[in-house]
Amino acid sequence: MMPWHDDPFLLLPGDGLLLLDDAGLVLHADRFVCELVPDAPTVGAPLATAWPELWRSVCAQADAVSASGPAEEVVDRVGVPVSCRIFRPDSGHGVVVMAPEPQRSMVGPSAVMYDRVLRSVNESIIVTTAEPFDAPGPVIVYVNDAFLRESGFTWHEVIGRSPRIVQPADAPAETRQAFRDAMQAWRSATVEIENVRKDGSHFWVEIDIAAVPDDTGWFTHWVSVQQDITRRKADELEREGRRAMIRAILDSLPSQSVLLDGEGRIVATNEQWQLTWREFGQGAEPDWTGVDYLAACLKAANTTLGGADDALAVHDGIRSVLGGAATSFGHDYEMVVEGTSLWFHMEVLPLRGAEGVVVTHADITRRRTVEDALGYQSRHDLLTGLSNRDAIRAALEECVASARPCALVLIDLDDFRTVNDAFGHHYGDRLLEVAAERLEAVVGLDDVVGRMGGDEFAVVVRDCAPGWDPSMLCDAIRVALAEPVDLDIVSARLSASIGVVAAPPHPGDADAIIRDADTAMYVSKSAGRDRWTLFADDQRLSARARAISRDRVSAALAAGEFELHFQPFIDLDTGRTVGSEALLRWRDPVEGLLLPGRFLSAIESGPLIEEVGAWVLDRALAVQAAWQAQRGHEQHVMSVNVSPFQLGRGRLPGVVADALAHHAVAEGTLGLEILESAVVTSGAGAEAELRELHASGIRIAIDDFGTGYSALAYLQSLPVDGVKIDRGFIQRSASPRGARLLRAAGELARAVGATSIAEGIETPQQLAAAQAAGIMWGQGFLLGRPEPAEDTPAACRVKV
Ligand code: C2E
Ligand code: CA
Ligand code: CA
Repeated sequence: MMPWHDDPFLLLPGDGLLLLDDAGLVLHADRFVCELVPDAPTVGAPLATAWPELWRSVCAQADAVSASGPAEEVVDRVGVPVSCRIFRPDSGHGVVVMAPEPQRSMVGPSAVMYDRVLRSVNESIIVTTAEPFDAPGPVIVYVNDAFLRESGFTWHEVIGRSPRIVQPADAPAETRQAFRDAMQAWRSATVEIENVRKDGSHFWVEIDIAAVPDDTGWFTHWVSVQQDITRRKADELEREGRRAMIRAILDSLPSQSVLLDGEGRIVATNEQWQLTWREFGQGAEPDWTGVDYLAACLKAANTTLGGADDALAVHDGIRSVLGGAATSFGHDYEMVVEGTSLWFHMEVLPLRGAEGVVVTHADITRRRTVEDALGYQSRHDLLTGLSNRDAIRAALEECVASARPCALVLIDLDDFRTVNDAFGHHYGDRLLEVAAERLEAVVGLDDVVGRMGGDEFAVVVRDCAPGWDPSMLCDAIRVALAEPVDLDIVSARLSASIGVVAAPPHPGDADAIIRDADTAMYVSKSAGRDRWTLFADDQRLSARARAISRDRVSAALAAGEFELHFQPFIDLDTGRTVGSEALLRWRDPVEGLLLPGRFLSAIESGPLIEEVGAWVLDRALAVQAAWQAQRGHEQHVMSVNVSPFQLGRGRLPGVVADALAHHAVAEGTLGLEILESAVVTSGAGAEAELRELHASGIRIAIDDFGTGYSALAYLQSLPVDGVKIDRGFIQRSASPRGARLLRAAGELARAVGATSIAEGIETPQQLAAAQAAGIMWGQGFLLGRPEPAEDTPAACRVKV
């Protein structure tokens, strides 16, 4: 055997190629083989009979070739010595039948020169044989240093193999086809494809491939030049994610809406817009993209037809929001279509986290008609168009005076103040309008709906029969409010605490009725919100006393009445438990097990929240350490909720470091869940804390993602490892629009490199929707309920 001589190419022009399977059957013999050896082996023949000397050499060299790459040997062919180079291709065995020396030494030097050139290039270069086109396929005859660096392979590992060695098994069929098409036509082509390194990691490359002819014009090789485009690909994905998100949000707006860029040009229109266009029968819909909306307004303003002033107002309004002079703009206008007057409310909203604005046109014809008919000013609430407090009182008074049985339903929106304080009155007002519309839609024709002030609404049910059951109306109200509200790039769910007074048997006047309804409403509130309560006499005394006080919480903490329950996160691909969320519980000796909704709000704004927070962290880490020690859950993530009030005070990183110092948990397996609303409204202090925590190996997850009235921008600026997509998304996932939103939320998480986690999976359908949307992890009653540490099954696996 001769050693591998220093040819940079496995095979030079003029060399012949023989490919065999493991058993030595000839799979491919090119035309050079036939020219070089007399009576050359043909496809389908066993080499053992066609050329026994070569087959013996191949067998003798097999182990050495597998271990350290190609080897050379001179093999006899009917008395003529032939130089052969034996290598290991994907098919089994391979032999280069080398051209005789005078011919080789003419090409050799130029091959060496090419090698020098290619070595100094930064792009990865692979040269393969041109044949065989079909299985077993071309073999790699050359790779440059850049390729070896990038892929992690050694020269011996790739030479002679198929280029598929760097392609992932799941490469998209279109990409493979693009390659094949180009190769079949001997065309050059540029393809973007994901490659795999030796260590299994993936990277994106752009490949230019070209066929190389020899002197006679016969194509002998393919050259492919690859450029790493992983960075560009990540940017593209992120942009796509954001675009999909914005699109989905636009489509979820109930009114016809357009998205304009910073210049006032149309970026996208929503489904409702397209629907309206078709409804008005304005012919085939043009492509709106790039149309200058501002110019269109000006053009309309310059016509002599009606509506010129409106068009000008719209134009100026959009300009002022785009230019930052106003934060929003609203305008009511009338349109006469075939003799009928229609009223619209147009609104311009800035799109936070992206440049541009959303312009929506809502049909308010019904409201305007009602307003006109009533002369509503003195008895109506200006924002919502509902009756005001005076009108509600008057309606009640009238019932009492005429001794008609009636009921008052008082509806207080939960947590509304937080929204208003955190995100501004603009969003608050829009939510109130939505709440008003929905209430109007569920009450009876005879009933009066009003806004008592602030976030409090009321319904006077007139003429209710004796023994009237409030449950139907109250449940209808709760369902109507629970329907998610999508405002520009935010989504919110409303809920309310409801108090009901039925009169008779209630004997009082209007004010007494309102007061008692308020008491019943307060009972609902302290029982955990989002429910209704019928007033009873004994509530007058007990309602306010039942609210849980800080002192009680403090005593409970000292008495060891708190415990943690753990709910698993499941990998939606494999069904494996990948982590757990620690959820706080209070085992009250009298009332039993209390959920955080009952008591957290009592302490959140005070110093006690830090004490409770530190207790939770310590306990969760103790459990995590025990699990990791007993069950070897090295990868298992323990996720702990952090209250917004623990954030931004400068103490959190210290508290976390302290707790970690006391428990031996694997690095990188503690996660903190921060409410999205807290992230959005937090100051620079909170951001710095999160950065510091992240830098020390703590995973940061955004909780209740999609409810926080959020600017998308924070996702880019903050170190986010996990995005917990709010339950609302899963609940809506049955509709096509809901499914799109869920996917968009998942894509957004992926775009910023975070794990997407779907919360609140309760049914197999919802599980399927989460999987279809490409969400990575899931949490919910279907996959596992919150349980005490002892009851949590070890290394459980759920069927997904
Ligand atoms: P969260 O962080 O969104 O926690 C998930 C809540 O959803 C838990 O309610 C959990 O029991 C519930 N849940 C899980 N799967 C499902 C499902 O499939 N369907 C439905 N309907 N609900 C599901 P929980 O335990 O009542 O906690 C409520 C909130 O209290 C938590 O919401 C979190 O914001 C807060 N919280 C819980 N523990 C702590 C804590 O230790 N510290 C702080 N600051 N807040 C906590
Ligand atoms: Ca949470
Ligand atoms: Ca959550």
